[in-house]
Amino acid sequence: MKFKQLCLIAVACWLPLSTYAEAPLNPTAAPARPKNIVIMIGDGMGPSYTTAYRYYKDNPDTEEIEQTVFDRLLVGMASTYPANVSGYVTDSAAAATALSTGFKSYNGAISVDVNKRPLTTMLERAKQRGLSTGVAVTCQVNHATPAAFLSHDESRKNYDAIAATYINTDADVILGGGQKYFTQPMRDEFTAKGYQVLTDFSQLDAVSQPKVLGLFADVQLPWSLDEPEVHRLSQLTSKSLELLSQNQQGFVLLVEGSQIDWGGHANDIAAAMGEMDEFAHSIEVVEQFVRNHPDTLMVITADHSTGGLSIGANGKYEWHPEVLHKMTGSPETMAAQAVANEQWREPLSASLGFAIDDELYSKFEVARMQGKKALTTAIKQEIDLRTNTGWTTPGHTGVDVQVFAAGPGSELFIGSQDNTDIANKIISLMPKAKAAK
Ligand SMILES: [Zn+2]
Repeated sequence: MKFKQLCLIAVACWLPLSTYAEAPLNPTAAPARPKNIVIMIGDGMGPSYTTAYRYYKDNPDTEEIEQTVFDRLLVGMASTYPANVSGYVTDSAAAATALSTGFKSYNGAISVDVNKRPLTTMLERAKQRGLSTGVAVTCQVNHATPAAFLSHDESRKNYDAIAATYINTDADVILGGGQKYFTQPMRDEFTAKGYQVLTDFSQLDAVSQPKVLGLFADVQLPWSLDEPEVHRLSQLTSKSLELLSQNQQGFVLLVEGSQIDWGGHANDIAAAMGEMDEFAHSIEVVEQFVRNHPDTLMVITADHSTGGLSIGANGKYEWHPEVLHKMTGSPETMAAQAVANEQWREPLSASLGFAIDDELYSKFEVARMQGKKALTTAIKQEIDLRTNTGWTTPGHTGVDVQVFAAGPGSELFIGSQDNTDIANKIISLMPKAKAAK
């Protein structure tokens, strides 16, 4: 309904323009240029994720289905296909390259073109224009999405090589996981260059000035579902905003809900909804910042969808997210605990929020004997059955993704577009480069 209304408004707005197609744009009608830009990427967050999240958050005690932050900010859709050589279904590297540079490339490319030549990234452009830059993510900071905003490499898999380039990015804020990719000598280099190097999440609060390299896990941060009260991504986001906004010229910040995708790859609806909740919370942090700083543009999208998530499955017209509300952790963590304990039936039942009858007990016990991975799978299958959730693949799918925006210039993102258009629109809104001295 809301999307329809937006489309109608969009059509109405564009009508006078098409009538006077030859006339120059009225400068007063042109969108104001934002000073600050926050681009937020829900990795793997296709339309079925934001829809599932709405029902996951619905208060069953009220007649109405409550709106989410996604319903509130929706403005358009974007296609995600990579360069021709990689077909129609993108990976995160090609999609992030498109969103960061405005050019399509092959799956696996980190801001290089199909001939492996570097493409200027959004954060590099921001630096050239005197803006501050940052990334705040829940994966390792050198994973595909943040890497395509900070670096260039012919393969996303070259984690060490990508990490080694970060010292030269001049980024003001780099927050996420990935300690294992930054050796002590590398960390010392950052310190020598004036960075505060953090490895403990509790250190973040005391930081009051850029620059900062925060690596809060060996690889990725923990599943939100295991510690929802910590709100790690929200905290990283709000600290990034606080630090970057000290630059009077403005800033460009990338925030990624990285592990929505990992929940999708694992076909884990519980973990995926936990990550969605934390990403939504982080969006609300930025939305509040935009309210207080009307010169800030926020644009949110996904790089692709993952897992072929379906709300309803097996021919049944039902979906039961309330099953997930009783869970007190991720299936992975529950399985690890059950494998480590001989007396696992009662504790697992308590964490899942439903009784484990004899039939399910034998099924879980067979899986448990095979180890954590098999038990995690068995738990996820049981949750899929009870929620009536469907999946078609452990990989990505090629559906279009949604675009959400608020702030000056946000009207440019209304309607249908390509992922490269998102980058080109953001780049066109960035302040002009400072005159060379
Ligand atoms: Zn993925």
